[in-house]
Amino acid sequence: MKNDIPKNLQSILNRIEIACENAGRSRKEVRLLLATKTVSAENIKMALAAGETLIGENKIQEIKEKYEDLKSVRHEQHFIGHLQTNKVKELLRYDVACIQSLDRLRLAKKLQNRLEYENKTIDAYLQFNTSYEESKFGMNPENAVNFALDVQQFNRINIKGLMTIGLFSAEDEKVRKCFKLLKNIQTQLLDKGISAHELSMGMSSDLEVAIQEGATIVRVGTAIFGKREHPDSYYWNETN
Ligand SMILES: *Cc1c(COP(=O)(O)O)cnc(C)c1O
Repeated sequence: MKNDIPKNLQSILNRIEIACENAGRSRKEVRLLLATKTVSAENIKMALAAGETLIGENKIQEIKEKYEDLKSVRHEQHFIGHLQTNKVKELLRYDVACIQSLDRLRLAKKLQNRLEYENKTIDAYLQFNTSYEESKFGMNPENAVNFALDVQQFNRINIKGLMTIGLFSAEDEKVRKCFKLLKNIQTQLLDKGISAHELSMGMSSDLEVAIQEGATIVRVGTAIFGKREHPDSYYWNETN
């Protein structure tokens, strides 16, 4: 369905624009991140050719496979998947501008050590499990302030924002609760002087609610690239 990509992309851009209007926000406040897990480099390039610049992968293996093909096309790569501590070194080999899924102190420590060794820095979003589902990764919201203060001690990691995956539910109000919670965590962190200005929340099915609740980045895959072969739990599982 590769010929649908430009058309699908346009309809997502329209949805974002309308959602911004309805929320009384400027369109410029919201960026689109293309969630490209399982999408071929060729199809990603089609979306980049249409003017998009921000992409996110869930697995290092996929970043690696597409790296050469995408190198020549201007884009910014974020990591949005579960990052195992033993993969930190490998991740830093690719031009990943930001890790949106920083969800535990042990990972932050590992990152700090490796970044120090390589004399690099990286942007990061702290990921929170706002739906409290066991299947989802993310720091417990109750620990938000302590976790953020701990991460802030690591001078190689620049906290830029927060990320969450909302509850999978057809009921907007339940999903909204998750996004409101992330916004609430942001307020707490800003109070402590932690500059977590970005809010990465909202996907194909719930981006309107996320924009209403203050999202600055929405992450969209299916609605642009089509259905994936496996359910998301498959891609979000630690062992896959
Ligand atoms: C796959 C994925 C998305 C996009 O989900 P869609 O429902 O396909 O739009 C967003 N965020 C993360 C972390 C993902 O893994």
